[in-house]
Amino acid sequence: MSEIFNSISRRKFIFIAGTTASATLLKGCLGNPPESGGNTGASGGGNTAQPVANVGSEQAPETPKIKLGYIPIVESAPLIIAFEKGFFREFGMTEVELSKQASWGSARDNVEIGSSGGGIDGGQWQMPMPHLITEGIITKGNQKIPMYVLCQLNTQGNGIAIASKWQGKGVTLQLAGAKSAITALKSSTPFTAAQTFPAVNQDFWIRYWVAAGGINPDTDIKLLTVPAAQTVANMKTGTMDAFSTGDPWPYRIVKDKIGFLAALTAQMWKYHPEEYLAIRADWVDKHPKATKALLKGIFKAQQWLDDFNNRNEAAEILSGRNYFNLPAEVLKEPFQGQYDMGDGNKINDKTMAAYYWKDGDKGTSTSYPYKSHDLWFITESVRWGFLPKDYITGGAAKAKALIDKVNREDIWKQAASEMGIAAADIPNTTSRGIEEFFDGIKFDPENPEAYLNSLTIKKV
Ligand code: CA
Repeated sequence: MSEIFNSISRRKFIFIAGTTASATLLKGCLGNPPESGGNTGASGGGNTAQPVANVGSEQAPETPKIKLGYIPIVESAPLIIAFEKGFFREFGMTEVELSKQASWGSARDNVEIGSSGGGIDGGQWQMPMPHLITEGIITKGNQKIPMYVLCQLNTQGNGIAIASKWQGKGVTLQLAGAKSAITALKSSTPFTAAQTFPAVNQDFWIRYWVAAGGINPDTDIKLLTVPAAQTVANMKTGTMDAFSTGDPWPYRIVKDKIGFLAALTAQMWKYHPEEYLAIRADWVDKHPKATKALLKGIFKAQQWLDDFNNRNEAAEILSGRNYFNLPAEVLKEPFQGQYDMGDGNKINDKTMAAYYWKDGDKGTSTSYPYKSHDLWFITESVRWGFLPKDYITGGAAKAKALIDKVNREDIWKQAASEMGIAAADIPNTTSRGIEEFFDGIKFDPENPEAYLNSLTIKKV
């Protein structure tokens, strides 16, 4: 570990002595959330500090209580900030419980049982996890558990980290210079890349990146699922070459001199869709006003987070022991769009940072869940054989039916207008339009089949 982590660790040992504490601390230092039975929720903070306001009797929530899961990466910031700054409470959600999840698999398991069974009602998700849970594709016994996507939490703020042994070998955003070195390994010890859950965001970012460089992710390299803390250990021992992750991991990889960053996801697809708030449909259907109250608190947090003057304070809050449990310094620079890529390149550009409410200089809504983005995730799932092709063929009717069931942008709009969000900030279309990737490939939501056809490397 770098000096910064050692010094912070030593400082914390003064407060929490003993071997149990040190084990907890080491896990925290590696960013490994504690094993959670769903009971690691934060308490206190701003959620209880401020009076209930902004709630007319018509909008009063049916319940003040909900349990939301999160993973300690910057994607979860709107949930934590809404809690800590009292924004949930402002709209009557006085008993929100945030529950740190040990892994994406745990989050999935916990939403399957729901808060009544000691799990969670919803929370932060990679895409298209809510759709896969709704379809029963990743649940136990293929049980269908309908979920609603209610808002996007963030864009950008993710990267692809590479082990130091690849320094100077052409492993960058454009992989042409490294292709032969990487593919030459496939019959001996293949280039190994990790994601944190299969067939969702981080897996897609790695796959897109290597495929754009002419490398087949299914046959030329080895892809595997590894918990975040394990990825660092594996990268240190040289058994793993790459992994994809959310901040603050990229910064830590570089500062710990374990590796460097080949790419930020912001370089691959500017203002790409990232992670989302989704809640069990049975909870939302039972508590429509509470759902909107929750959304209003999140909107307020997202607006607060997009004021760069608030971001050092956000870093201090998120880094706390209840949450990410790491030094605030590892969040501050990425939050300002400052990335030391670790290969001699540095980025200092606010438009490369994570955004929460609006897409930086593009100006489109980050928070609004565009259906066109769900469609990209479904299309990419078809590309790699995770979903059958019939989701996309014939005008993508099957994909659109699933998206119409899961994506509740209508609730987003109701919450936004009740809250008095300016009409200009409420999208009047469910499509963000044609998207363009760093390799020049375009995704037109009107014709996802054309996108699939335009790709050279694919499984479908
Ligand atoms: Ca992510």
